Amino acid sequence: MIVADPKPFLQVKGYLEDFQKVLVVGCGTCTTVCLSGGEAEVQILASGLRIAFGKDGRKKTILEGCVQRQCDLEFIVPVLSQVEAEGIDAVVSLACGVGVNFLADRLGNIPIFPGLDTTFYGANMQQGLWAEMCAGCGSCIVAYTGGICPVARCSKHLLNGPCGGSEKGKCEVDPKNIDCVWQLIYDRLKRLGRLEDLRNLLPAKDWSTASDGGVRRSAREQLYDVK
Ligand code: SF4
Ligand code: SF4
Repeated sequence: MIVADPKPFLQVKGYLEDFQKVLVVGCGTCTTVCLSGGEAEVQILASGLRIAFGKDGRKKTILEGCVQRQCDLEFIVPVLSQVEAEGIDAVVSLACGVGVNFLADRLGNIPIFPGLDTTFYGANMQQGLWAEMCAGCGSCIVAYTGGICPVARCSKHLLNGPCGGSEKGKCEVDPKNIDCVWQLIYDRLKRLGRLEDLRNLLPAKDWSTASDGGVRRSAREQLYDVK
């Protein structure tokens, strides 16, 4: 899933100083699951804003909403209608950056502000803890690394083995909390009886499929061309 963290409250409040009627809208998918942008977090942020502006002696209307996905037109149409019907001055989105962008493209002259900092594609390690697993490089190489991604999980994005800072299986960037991914890859390949794979040097990676290659698009006409 896409993982995102709440922005500092005062930063979000600061965005809204000049607006009277604000809609805080959450997303029912990734940011709900990572406990930063679902219905509950919308309520918490909206209540906090009402209280904080009230304490400042500023009367503002803070409305709440949450849609299943902010990255799908069919789900955001009601938000666009609500903004128009209720004369909303500004929107705060608790979706990932995809949702913020998708709404921004469709909100005309109504400003939108992010309530979250979108961080990475990650997995749930334990309750309340997520870790990065994929960087969306557009050309997956984990077939050669035992299914473990050095692009996302090596602190230096090294693709052909560990750096000199790998010690006792830990990464020098944060030995307490980060495993050296090349140790994980080695252990995994050993377990699979495929250590020989490490002798195959990966060619220089073609980053044109990653974010360096311009705005990416994905069209799906036919999943597999099986002949
Ligand atoms: S190699 Fe690229 S696509 Fe594959 S898991 Fe890593 S970042 Fe994601
Ligand atoms: S110690 Fe391992 S994970 Fe950390 S930067 Fe070096 S190779 Fe990458």
